[in-house]
Formats: sequence, structure tokens, C-alpha cells
Amino acid sequence: MSQTRILVTGGAGFIGSHYVRTLLGPSGPGEVSLTVLDKLTYAASLANLDQVRRSDRFTLAVGDICDEELVGRLVAEHDQVVHFAAESHVDRSIADSGEFVRTNVLGTQVLLDAALRHGVDTFVHVSTDEVYGSIPTGSCSESQPLAPNSPYAASKAASDLIALAYHRTHGLDIRVTRCSNNYGHHQFPEKLIPLFVTNLLDGRTVPLYGDGLNVRDWLHIDDHVQGIELVRAKGRAGEVYNIGGGTELSNADLTALLLDACGAGPERVEYVADRKGHDRRYSVDWSKIHTELGYKPGRDFADGLAETVAWYRDHRPWWEALKARAALPASGAAPC
Ligand code: NAD
Repeated sequence: MSQTRILVTGGAGFIGSHYVRTLLGPSGPGEVSLTVLDKLTYAASLANLDQVRRSDRFTLAVGDICDEELVGRLVAEHDQVVHFAAESHVDRSIADSGEFVRTNVLGTQVLLDAALRHGVDTFVHVSTDEVYGSIPTGSCSESQPLAPNSPYAASKAASDLIALAYHRTHGLDIRVTRCSNNYGHHQFPEKLIPLFVTNLLDGRTVPLYGDGLNVRDWLHIDDHVQGIELVRAKGRAGEVYNIGGGTELSNADLTALLLDACGAGPERVEYVADRKGHDRRYSVDWSKIHTELGYKPGRDFADGLAETVAWYRDHRPWWEALKARAALPASGAAPC
């Protein structure tokens, strides 16, 4: 059986590594081989790939998606691209947006050019609900005009538009996914859930931004990977697909659940000055991917959260190494 060769950018990060482990695991499609291209920034962990390292269908290439020569060579050897690589933390983009524009915008364009040059048959661009901006009520469909607010969200919106332009201009098969806030094991301990859980496990306080009433929709990593894989395998060229989780929570309510899960009291919450330009609420309408591709989030939030907390409790060496490596820029914490 011939194998589809997929280049997975950012595959040593949280979502990309989950995608790789899933596709090469027992429930993955057998007929794929994967190459991870990852720069191994502060957010990456090679341990995320331990499970697949010995597979003869797995290759690791360490490098930068902005490196035209390297990207050209790798893309030429693959049939498809699934593009996760990005600078992904909003607070860091507020502190310094340069690397966000370079990796998220320029890096995406370098990949798209290579995909066009070498006739890649499908390019899945993984994006975010943050490109729609803050929405007080209701949910954003894929046709909602983009209104990003943070430098991170603006860099992702720019990359979405460039990717879609390569479809409209050149006919390249581009598929864009926009998901809500992911949670699960192996998430870098600067994002809200792993930051709060690891602080609580260490007996420390958790920094909650502003009034704590910013609302996010939570999506289990398994469900996100299921959605991306449906889009890669069965989606349509030039289309955008929202991927939601179906559990909307304010940060304060989520914090209460995390305190409870870690056996900690409300005195462990430290209210800190709000993030600059903090979006109040995100929500995506995911009826398109449900109707067209049969996507449905399968993970119950309470179970998923309990499993996630237990994973961090049991994997201290994994997160202690990462926490020590990253100088966290913000005093507060928002979901992403
Ligand atoms: P992450 O920060 O955990 O991982 C990003 C990976 O990209 C890392 O392994 C890093 O080394 C790699 N990388 C960064 N710059 C690179 C470069 N120039 N060249 C090659 N590799 C590079 O991020 P994540 O949470 O796994 O997010 C993956 C994708 O999903 C991103 O595109 C992000 O915008 C999107 N997304 C994430 C969420 C979320 O909740 N985590 C929500 C919506 C969308």
C-alpha cells in the first residue's frame, strides 16, 4: 500500500505532537508516514515524541519554517503539509511581537511557496478562534469578518488570509481550521490550565487576570486532533472549518474547578492586573464541520479535566524541566 507522506510543522509542541502520536498510534490511518519539522523553541519538548521516535514511519527534522532552502527540500519529499508551527502565547506577543510576525506570517508564506512550487496535494493550516476577536454573545461562523486584537491573533489572521489567497490565486488545496482553547496533557505550563495546576501542585498561588470573567470555549486535544484529521482526509479545498469543544467557562469558574481538583482553597487565587486588550469572550459555531464531516466533540469536560490534572500530578519531571526553561513574561494568566 502506498503511503501518504505528511510534513507536520511544529510537531514537537502541544497539539502537533498529539496529532503525530495519534496518527502513528493504533487508531491512526496506517498508510501515512510523518516528518516533523520543528525549530525546538522554548515551547517544544522532544519527550513529546518519545512514543513515536522508533516508528519507521516517523522522521524528525530540526529547523525553522522560515528557512527557504530547508523547507523547499522537505516539502519536495512530501505529499501533504499539516502546519502547526507558531509562536502561540498571547502574553509573549504583547511583550514582543517580532517573532510572532516572523514565524506565524513569514514562516507560513515560506511553506506555502514551497507547497506551490512542489505541487503538494493538500495543505492544512491550523489556526485559532482568536482571529474573529471578542464576541459578546452568540458564536462566530466561518464567514465572520476577522477582527483580531492581540499581536498573536493578528499574526494568525494574516497567515490565514495568505493561506486562503494561495488557494484563490493559485488553486492550491488549502484547508484552514480555527479551533477554540485546547486543553489536555503535554501542554506547555505557561497556558492557564497547566500553569494553574502546576502552581497548585507546588503549593503556590494562581494569578487570575482582571475580574476573571473572560469566557473561553474549551476543547479537548483529542477532539481537536479528530477535527484536524477529518479536515485533512475529507475536507474541501479553500474552506475554513471551525472546531469547537462545547464547554464555555469564565476563567473564574475554571479556576474554581482547578482549585477543587487540586484540593486547594480560594485563598490560593491572586487577582492581578488584567492583560492589555484582553478579549472578553470567544465562541465558534462548529456546525459546518459537524454537518459536512461528521465532527462532534467526544470528550466530557469534567472527565477530561480530571485526567489532565492527574497527568500533571504524575509527570512532574516533564513540566518541571519546561517551567525552569521558560521565563514567563506575564504576572497574570489567561487561557492562551
Ligand atoms: P506550542 O507553542 O505548544 O507549539 C508550537 C511548536 O512550534 C513548538 O514545538 C515550536 O518549537 C514550534 N515552532 C515555533 N516556531 C517555529 C519555527 N519558526 N519553525 C519551526 N517550528 C517552530 O503550540 P500549540 O498550542 O501546540 O499550537 C499549535 C498550533 O495551534 C498553533 O498554530 C496555534 O496558533 C494553534 N492554536 C492553538 C490553540 C491552543 O489552545 N493551544 C488554540 C488555537 C489554535
